[in-house]
Amino acid sequence: MAEPIKGVCVLGATGSIGVSTLDVVARHPERYRVVALTANRQVERLQQQCLEHSPRFAVMVDENAAEQLRQGLQQLGSATEVLSGGEGLEYVASLDEVDTVMAAIVGAAGLPPTLAAARHGKRVLLANKEALVMSGQLFMDEVHQHGAKLLPIDSEHNAIFQCMPVDFEQGLPQVGVRRILLTASGGPFRSTPLEQLAAVTPEQAVAHPNWSMGRKISVDSATMMNKGLEVIEACWLFKTTPANIQVVLHPQSVIHSMVEYADGSVLAQLGNPDMRTPIAHALAWPERIDSGVPSLDMFSVARLDFEEPDLQRFPCLRLSMEAMERGGTAPTILNAANEIAVEAFLDQRIGFTAIPEIIETTLTRLPANPADSLARIFDDDAAARAVAGEVVAGVRKP
Ligand code: NAD
Ligand code: MG
Repeated sequence: MAEPIKGVCVLGATGSIGVSTLDVVARHPERYRVVALTANRQVERLQQQCLEHSPRFAVMVDENAAEQLRQGLQQLGSATEVLSGGEGLEYVASLDEVDTVMAAIVGAAGLPPTLAAARHGKRVLLANKEALVMSGQLFMDEVHQHGAKLLPIDSEHNAIFQCMPVDFEQGLPQVGVRRILLTASGGPFRSTPLEQLAAVTPEQAVAHPNWSMGRKISVDSATMMNKGLEVIEACWLFKTTPANIQVVLHPQSVIHSMVEYADGSVLAQLGNPDMRTPIAHALAWPERIDSGVPSLDMFSVARLDFEEPDLQRFPCLRLSMEAMERGGTAPTILNAANEIAVEAFLDQRIGFTAIPEIIETTLTRLPANPADSLARIFDDDAAARAVAGEVVAGVRKP
């Protein structure tokens, strides 16, 4: 008998991951039905997506944008119901008719609806790494307590998941895993002379050599904070510590990460750098479906290079590992300070090399508290944003 059609909710539908998700979903109408789409305030794009995918609900976080979308859709005869605000996001992520929630909102704003999906036992496809970085143990506890299935979308974590034995949740040493090799492209400034880094522009920073992504994660890739957040993300997803994770610079982004076993075997997952592969993997797991990604042409790839990361060039990587070792809300503070610093850099209020300085100062000024409640996590997130904002205001642009 054919499987019943799965209801899908895409949080952050208008973003880079959201668009790729809808591309994969639309290839399999016999498997998936779009139930809800959400965005912050991109009315036109969400309206277009509603016309293409006819979801039951659309959510715009911004109230005015929601009203615009409501009127637009009504005029076009669409039956999609428009909701608004953070409550709207949590509501659609929890609906009974939703089986799978793609968590692809950028930043801390994605935590409440992603957590709502976990609490309702959904299959959670996690792209929004900031949510896991800021709430770590609490998030994982909710997943386990409510029988949710967490599948990583971040290409590295998806690769690691694919290379892990099925019973990895027992603990890595127990299942014979020695360490994780987390690959990183090194971003656009991997070999830029250090003295030129202070003057790089947002346009240069968002021009990633291999991946096309949203602006925030592109800047994170340039500072390698993205890899730092990913080390933390991997610690929670695979129950390990930074000591068991080696970051490996691999400029071609063809190997998406590796797992090393006790016997010396190293398993890798390879593919074209296209997020539709991990998205299709997580949507259909444990089955495999077409993602629209073409075959990897080994002859044009020709070679694979590896380098050790330079912590002097990429202080954000060091700051992330230190925050994870420090524990409690230190990763929450790191993440919040980074969001503020990246926004200031994109607005051209600070230079590129001020980003790690702002994060480090914020981490030094604030205590890390036990991350044992959502209230505490949001308090420390807010405190870090306030401190980072003050530090930004005191920085002079180069
Ligand atoms: P993006 O900027 O392209 O899209 C972000 C989406 O979130 C948009 O739909 C936007 O409307 C929505 N959004 C933004 N602010 C919001 C708010 N305050 N409240 C509610 N919704 C809001 O980002 P992206 O590149 O698609 O990345 C999304 C997430 O996936 C990030 O956490 C990123 O780290 C992660 N990720 C992305 C990639 C990638 O290839 N793009 C790879 C790995 C992980
Ligand atoms: Mg990644």
